[in-house]
Parts: sequence; C-alpha cells; structure tokens
Amino acid sequence: MRYFIKTFGCQMNYSDSERIASVLEKNNLKPVENISKADLAVFNTCGVRQMAEDRVYGQVHNLRKNNPNIKIILTGCLSNRKDVRRILENKVDLFVEIKNVGTAITKFVIANEVKQSRSKNNRLPRRSAPRNDIYNKDYFKIIPKHDNNFQAYVPIMTGCNNFCAYCVVPHARGREISRPAGEIIKEAKRLIKKGYKEITLLGQNVNSYKDGNINFPKLLKKINNLPGKFWLRFISSHPKDMSDELIETIAKSKKACEYVHLPIQAGDDKVLKIMNRKYDAKHYLKLIKKIELAFEKYKPGIIYSLTSDIIVGFPGETKNQFLKSAGIMEKVPYDMVYFGQYSPRPNTIAWKMKDNVSKKEKVRREKYLNEILKKTAFANNKEYVGKVFDVLIEKRKDGVYFGKTRTLKNVKLPSKKKNLVGKVVKVKIIKANIWNLAGTMIK
Ligand code: SAM
Ligand code: SF4
Repeated sequence: MRYFIKTFGCQMNYSDSERIASVLEKNNLKPVENISKADLAVFNTCGVRQMAEDRVYGQVHNLRKNNPNIKIILTGCLSNRKDVRRILENKVDLFVEIKNVGTAITKFVIANEVKQSRSKNNRLPRRSAPRNDIYNKDYFKIIPKHDNNFQAYVPIMTGCNNFCAYCVVPHARGREISRPAGEIIKEAKRLIKKGYKEITLLGQNVNSYKDGNINFPKLLKKINNLPGKFWLRFISSHPKDMSDELIETIAKSKKACEYVHLPIQAGDDKVLKIMNRKYDAKHYLKLIKKIELAFEKYKPGIIYSLTSDIIVGFPGETKNQFLKSAGIMEKVPYDMVYFGQYSPRPNTIAWKMKDNVSKKEKVRREKYLNEILKKTAFANNKEYVGKVFDVLIEKRKDGVYFGKTRTLKNVKLPSKKKNLVGKVVKVKIIKANIWNLAGTMIK
C-alpha cells in the first residue's frame, strides 16, 4: 500500500505528521509524492480558522469523487468535532485523535489489508509482524520519520490550558500535558548524534512547560548544554508566562537562536481582557524591553529578531482599538508578524459574540498593519548588509541555494558548489529586500 499525508496548519501538525509517517512505514506502507497515486490518504487537519477547515472539506470531497477506492483517515484538530464527522462521514474511513494514531492507524491498516486480501484470494496476507512499539499507547514514544536529515521538530508538550476567547486549540487538543524532560533530552541527543543542525521545541505555550522541578528555562539549559553543534529554537511563548529567568536563559544560551516569537494578539487592553490573554500592552512592551536589554548584555552587538501574531477584527474591535495594535507595531521593530483575520470557532467563548467587523474591514486592517511591518522588516534587514552570518542551507533551485539565518531570515545565494543542502555556511549579506536577504558564500 502507498500513502500520502496532507498536512494543514502549524509546525505542531507537521511534527505530528512525521510521527504518522513513521507509524505507516512500520506497517510497510510506502510514501508517494502525488496523492492521486496513493491507496491511503491521511488528512492531518487544522481548525484554527474557518478557511483551513473549508480547505479540508473541499479536498476530501474531491479526492473521494476522483478516487472512490482510496482509504481516507482524518486526524488533527477537526477529528473530534461532531459536526465535522457528520459532514464527512460518508467520505472518511477513519476519524482518529492524534494521541491515538499509533494504535488506531495500525489496526486500520491491518484490517484493510486483511479485507483486501480476502476479496482477492481468500487468504490472509503475508506481512511482517508489526513491531510492538507502534502499539505503544504513548504517542510521544513513536520515533518520527523526519522530513529531512538536518532540521527536526521536538514536541515538548501537547494541549493548552489558556482558553483564549477566540481559540479552538484547548477544545480540539485538550488540556496541557508536559512531556517528561528525560524523554525530550533523549530525543534531542539522538538527533544531535545523527548530525541534525536545527532542533525546534514545540508547544502551544512552552513557557508553562513543567516536569517536576524542571521548568522551561531549565529544560532549555539542559539541551543547550548537550555537546554538539546545533541551533536551538522554540515556539510559542505566551507573554503572561515569559519570566525573567527565561529571558536571561535565551539571551545567554549559545545554541538558542537570537529569535523570539512573542504573540501579542491585540494592542488594546480591553480587547486583550476580552480575549482572556491575562496581560496588558504595558506588560508586553516591558517584556520586549527586557529581551532587548538581555541580548545587549549577554550577546553585545548581536542582531536578534522579534516576531508576533496579531488578530484583526476580533468581535467588537473598534477602529481606535485596532489602531492600538498598529501603535504596538510602530513601537516594536518586528521582523515578522503573522496576521489572522478573526474567524469564529465553535465552542470558544467568542463564538457567542457577534462577528461584527466586516470581512472588507478585516482585510483593510490587515493591509494597514502589513504596511508597518514592511517598513520595520526592511529597516531591520538593511542592518544585515555587509555583515557575515551563519546560514543553514535548506534547498537548491536553478543554481541558487536558499537557507535561513539563526534569526530566521530567508537568504538566497548563488553557488556552483555541490551538496550544500543541510550544511551551515558563512554568508556575506550583499542585499536586503523586505522579506529576504541576498548573499555570497565566503570561504
Ligand atoms: N499558542 C500560541 C499563542 O498563544 O500565541 C498560538 C497558537 S494559535 C494555534 C496560532 C495563532 O492563530 C494565534 O496566535 C492567533 O493569532 C491565531 N488564531 C487563533 N485562533 C484564531 C481565530 N479564531 N481567528 C483568527 N486567528 C486565530
Ligand atoms: Fe490558543 Fe491561547 Fe492556547 Fe495559544 S495560548 S493555543 S492562542 S488558547
């Protein structure tokens, strides 16, 4: 059997898909590059916005129409929603929560092989016995099949306890559970030994990680102290839990990248309160100042980058309240902001509130903020010109390599050299654009 995994949404889902691929391959399935050639398609879904949900409906419908015999499994954020199950019940063969993929997918594959084989020759199929570890009830014990051999995601927790008024994650993914630190460190050691250059720790709110007396800064320190050359990243941080200890640890740690993603969501205190974010704009700006000072203290002169998430058009957000988000963007020199036009999500607190900012106005507000972002990102990028940075090369196309700095800037560089993908090279930046940099490799 051949499989194809379609992943929607965030890094968390991409990381989950790496574990799903591992389960499928241990069951002797082979990956294919095109979904039309697959016998089994897995939709790993995202329910954060309606648009992502609609794309799943459209693609599942089309796939079933064009390929009536394909087996379809649906997992991720939408897998447990009754309304979704009702809409797709005749199209999807198995709905499975992500934490159960190990056992559920294995059972499903075996049952289908048996069925197929019976209908063909009335005999049970010959298959190598599935290994015990794929039956393991603990999802984290599945060893993922990483997308490449130089960058890896390592989930450190699942779920979320914060119940931000707009957000479906706590409803779709359940309460927050921290993964044992020993298990995380074991996974990091395995990756470092295999030569991985970049490790990204994942959680909805990594700042609230806790395993006994090991909090997130302590975990970060432990991984930073592992021998080997690698870059360490993490997402996402919640401003309400961003401690001084964590800021100091990030700035001090050699391997932790000079990149902090700190989503503010809105600039107006009343909106933040209704969003249930549990901080105000003043607290957020104080954190940004502390981060800047910490980098200046522990890595003087280093270029660092700050990024955020902002929602536009939250229910009741007035023009003046929106302008407070713009005000934050004028004050913080962001390198990137991920904008989300508010999308009502079932079961959330905001679901009951009137979605009273029109689509047209949400688009206008996003464009307005994007213009500010273009200015700060471009000004920041110009600081790179003439300086030399380590760049992790991710791919090559038409004689040009593409990679990223520790600050997550996209860099393109032409080079005739072969086999640079997956390597960290020294690059002199010669040109700054709004969304990327151009450079030349130095010896
Ligand atoms: N845990 C992270 C945090 O607290 O910042 C974010 C995780 S959430 C899955 C990713 C982003 O999606 C959020 O930061 C928010 O900006 C956006 N988002 C979540 N729910 C949304 C909604 N209902 N409408 C629009 N954007 C939304
Ligand atoms: Fe959603 Fe808020 Fe949890 Fe982030 S912290 S996942 S935005 S509920």
